[in-house]
Amino acid sequence: MEKPVLYIVVPCYNEQEVLPITSGMFLEKIRALADAGKISEESRVLFVNDGSKDDTWKIIEGLAAQDAHFLGISLSRNRGHQNALLGGLMAAKDRCDVTISIDCDGQDDINAMDRMIDAYLDGCEVVYGVRARRDTDTFFKRFTAEGFYHLMNRLGADIVFNHADYRLMSSRALAALAEFGEVNLFLRGLVPLVGFKSTSVYYDRAERIAGESHYPLKKMLALAFDGITSLSVKPIRLITTLGVVVSVLSFIGVLWALIAALAGHTVAGWASTVCMVCFMGGVQLLCLGVIGEYIGKIYLEAKHRPRYLFSDRTWKDE
Ligand code: UDP
Ligand code: MG
Repeated sequence: MEKPVLYIVVPCYNEQEVLPITSGMFLEKIRALADAGKISEESRVLFVNDGSKDDTWKIIEGLAAQDAHFLGISLSRNRGHQNALLGGLMAAKDRCDVTISIDCDGQDDINAMDRMIDAYLDGCEVVYGVRARRDTDTFFKRFTAEGFYHLMNRLGADIVFNHADYRLMSSRALAALAEFGEVNLFLRGLVPLVGFKSTSVYYDRAERIAGESHYPLKKMLALAFDGITSLSVKPIRLITTLGVVVSVLSFIGVLWALIAALAGHTVAGWASTVCMVCFMGGVQLLCLGVIGEYIGKIYLEAKHRPRYLFSDRTWKDE
């Protein structure tokens, strides 16, 4: 069998501090894997510049000029981690046999790649990198992140616990992923839907080597919300349940009011009216909000805008 061509796909956004350090680590890994005879010498590291505002793209161009193992591609503007990653994977898919996606900040242990490639050579088409421990994350990040995975699973989205976007995908699995045309992109939820034979490898997550996280709480919440609403309709079902419960309660309330009135008690009526109005107003607004969220998603899907556009790359068309 011919040795597989591996592309390591690395989305980068404002990473000028960390890129010079981690790029060398990726290159070494490719060399070591090629020397071990597991992958082809034609393997590459593909950096995807996600519209960085600092010198990231210059650094990538410099790397590509220095060593043929480095390739770079640039999005026309910042589109976010998920879109940048998809763009990179799609650019890589027809040029290689297998891809590994990884963040460029050195948090994910690159030595897990050896086991990923072994699993691939054993016939797996998708290999999930799973964080065995999160010791280096702050308590807050760990708590919110793990809570998120639990919530997602309870809401019916089939995602791999503690797996982010460090994963191996074969070009066959990527071709299948390309069939999913959704604009509201949440790769962690999509890849399990793509199927194929898969497995997980475990690794310890380290601290960022340099630079700062681009995922403050606000963005994490947005990602979690996007993930839930693009993978699950359970929130809408919950609303229906809530509606039923509120209706039953209201019915009891009406009976109570009627009986009280017929029994001739003079009901002041103010408190109960206000309570009802407030309660119903609150419930209705909440429900409208959730439904609106889904309509917003439909709106974005209906427009079918491109998920990423490339403006530059470091190689010429063959
Ligand atoms: N990233 C990106 N576009 C963005 C934000 C982040 O391509 O708009 C990249 C970033 O360069 C990094 C990866 O996504 O390689 C993960 O980001 P980060 O390390 O900041 O997130 P965290 O690990 O803290 O969740
Ligand atoms: Mg990180």
